[in-house]
Amino acid sequence: MTVQAIHCAPIGFIRSCYKEKFGIPRQAGLVNAVPATLVLSPSFSQETVDGLADFSHLWLLFLFHAHLGAGWQPKVRPPRLGGNRRVGVFASRAPFRPNPIGLSAVELLGIERQGSAMVLRLGGVDLLDGTPVLDIKPYIPYADAHPQARAGFASTAPRERPVTFSEVAELQVRRQDPDGKRQLRRLIQQVLAQDPRPAYLDRRPARDRFGLRLFDLEIRWQVRGEGFLVVSVEPIGESTS
Ligand code: SAH
Repeated sequence: MTVQAIHCAPIGFIRSCYKEKFGIPRQAGLVNAVPATLVLSPSFSQETVDGLADFSHLWLLFLFHAHLGAGWQPKVRPPRLGGNRRVGVFASRAPFRPNPIGLSAVELLGIERQGSAMVLRLGGVDLLDGTPVLDIKPYIPYADAHPQARAGFASTAPRERPVTFSEVAELQVRRQDPDGKRQLRRLIQQVLAQDPRPAYLDRRPARDRFGLRLFDLEIRWQVRGEGFLVVSVEPIGESTS
């Protein structure tokens, strides 16, 4: 029997600080400074998450909704290979896939009800704001964790780059996050430490100034040796340059 198509509807949507694709960590668990939330559709009552809070981590199955209709290629160039070596799409975690479904293991920080919706607080997400979630499953270490597993081109975590802040950027972060409760400085540091630049830019050193968006803030930064310097942190629409 061949199945032509499967229809499924999202169970909820992600709210995260990542408002554009540039800067989103390339895997879950790499940036955990600021929690995200998963807001379940009101048709999923408290009953549907009964017992879930006993698990520290969970799997999210989601739709790469920003790429719907974008197509896919049998071979892709993973950033971990410097963007110049190709592997099969099924040997990669690339978002452009025959079925645009993503999988992330994230930390479950809490579950609460907000109005008629159940809301899950999540740590370490690699998901665009608005991502539709198809399913949740508890993470089960005895079955899911394989510390001895071989992992091809992704056998170690990517190296982290040093990140420094200009005096102006330090002041601007403090203005946005006076008591540090939003963990804004740590968020920026963790996001840039992952080196969000497209891999192919490594071969084009000419460009050294970048901007990315977190929450409603424009973060401007530049390359400094092996690492990055945060130049400014300003609300979108108010930036001076
Ligand atoms: N952990 C997932 C995602 C890996 S790809 C998996 O292995 O399936 C991670 C990249 O997906 C991020 O860097 C971001 O650029 C992209 N991404 C995240 N959410 C997305 C969305 N809703 N639509 C399209 N791309 C998305």
